[in-house]
Amino acid sequence: MPTLQIAKLGNPVLRQIAGPVDLRNIRTYDIQQFIDNLIETMLDEPGIGLAAPQVSRSIQLVVMGCEGEDGFPQTVLINPKIVFYGPEQVENWEGCLSVDGLRGKVTRPSVVRVQALDRHGKSMDFEATGLYAVCIQHEMDHLIGKVFLDRMTDMSTITQLPEFSKYWQDDPVPVI
Ligand code: ZN
Repeated sequence: MPTLQIAKLGNPVLRQIAGPVDLRNIRTYDIQQFIDNLIETMLDEPGIGLAAPQVSRSIQLVVMGCEGEDGFPQTVLINPKIVFYGPEQVENWEGCLSVDGLRGKVTRPSVVRVQALDRHGKSMDFEATGLYAVCIQHEMDHLIGKVFLDRMTDMSTITQLPEFSKYWQDDPVPVI
């Protein structure tokens, strides 16, 4: 399966508002093949999430998945909406496949409730916590033209990769 080229910061597609996926198109070969390619690209990079605009397709579709202790199942969200944010905020390091070589601390709500369609067009309604909640918010930001840098409240935490390894590597960093 071909991997897709990642749009990097500065590419205008990352700043566009993504349009919804037409329900009638979800089961088409085009969309199903695109989802498979998106997952393949995410795993190949590697990252734990990838949004369609990050491969220059401005539609409301994201994929994510992470193995391991703090992991979560492979998830495809089409036309997702966050319908509830928990009151508590958590701070995490984030990185992004569209932002090479940088990490930064982002504060986000620790719990979200999401409504979306899965890859077969079936409705989903679920709550996510921990890394899953962070990943969902990060990916959904890509659908409204935002990257994690826009969500940082303290820009002084921006860190380059070698310095991250040297000074901060004990902290976990999702690259989404
Ligand atoms: Zn990202």
